[in-house]
Amino acid sequence: TFRAILISRDEAKRQSVDVVEMSPDDLMEGDVDVAVEATTVNYKDGLAITGRSPVVRRWPMIPGVDLAGTVVRSDHARWKPGDKVVLNGWGLGETHYGAYAGLARVKGDWLVALPERFTPREAMAIGTAGYTAMLSVLAIERAGLTPQDGPAVVSGASGGVGSVAVALLARRGWEVIAVTGRTSEADYLTGLGATQILDRAELAAPGKPLGKERWVAGIDAVGSHTLANVLASTRYGGLVAACGLAQGMDLPATVAPFILRGVSLIGIDSVMAPLDRREAAWRRLAEDLDAAVLSTIAADIGFDELIANAQAIVEGTIRGRVVAKLA
Ligand code: NAP
Repeated sequence: TFRAILISRDEAKRQSVDVVEMSPDDLMEGDVDVAVEATTVNYKDGLAITGRSPVVRRWPMIPGVDLAGTVVRSDHARWKPGDKVVLNGWGLGETHYGAYAGLARVKGDWLVALPERFTPREAMAIGTAGYTAMLSVLAIERAGLTPQDGPAVVSGASGGVGSVAVALLARRGWEVIAVTGRTSEADYLTGLGATQILDRAELAAPGKPLGKERWVAGIDAVGSHTLANVLASTRYGGLVAACGLAQGMDLPATVAPFILRGVSLIGIDSVMAPLDRREAAWRRLAEDLDAAVLSTIAADIGFDELIANAQAIVEGTIRGRVVAKLA
């Protein structure tokens, strides 16, 4: 048997979260069993565990959208016992039993080989948040934008997506403007490579359709007025990658940046992203993130602290990333 966190609902749809003992027979279908060695807390895990948004779509559910570990059983052609793997998304912790358990039974098609230079703990220091930041950087590069074109802005900068985005952009020579509500984290953010700190209050309220042109590229983990204001201050021909909704799911913007400045808004999804995009992102993460950056970003917690950290992340009080080693 192994320990797992289980989210259940009673007849009145009241949600409860418990630590339970499970056996492999209790798991859902899948052609590969992975011994979970490390997992992490993403914003979505916070939404699932607190029940604040309808992330869980099958009951009961083991939460946890991210895992790294070792294959212990496989009927899949690409995987054999002993292989080290990473899994991000694909409905894990939403529609399929997730990572907050000693063992996960999953589809082999969902797995990516753990890059050799990362331990399972380091891969989870990156996690969905970091891999989403990488997808966003790759989208900016695909558009042909370079640090020579101007600065990049990152919102939600001291969160998980934001921290990794700041580090990745700085590593490739971008001047990075970090937007944060926690100006007390200025040293942390400049340590990751931010060149300027912007108080998020400046972008959080309704703004003008067009503002002063301040950056050419953006990675926005926040949505709502912040994303609208990021777009309004994007330079002619620039691009903003929208990947989050920490402020809100709404987008109270105008078309002015698009039709007057040729600005592009591009959507980033990590959950259903195809395998080739995932592999490209993990290859680049392995090139661009060293152990020193990861240790600045990540804090270690135990299995018993996952629930409390999931509650904290939706309050916006977690800096960077948290990692739980299970084995
Ligand atoms: P996180 O660690 O909680 O980071 C979110 C950050 O947003 C916070 O640290 C905070 O940064 C800022 N923030 C929080 N509440 C805010 C508010 N009311 N107004 C403005 N800023 C606020 O979460 P995460 O795991 O990095 O995820 C960030 C977002 O990306 C979430 O919305 C998540 O759902 C989304 N996401 C999407 C994908 C995808 O596939 N598209 C993948 C991963 C995550 P400061 O304190 O520095 O201001």
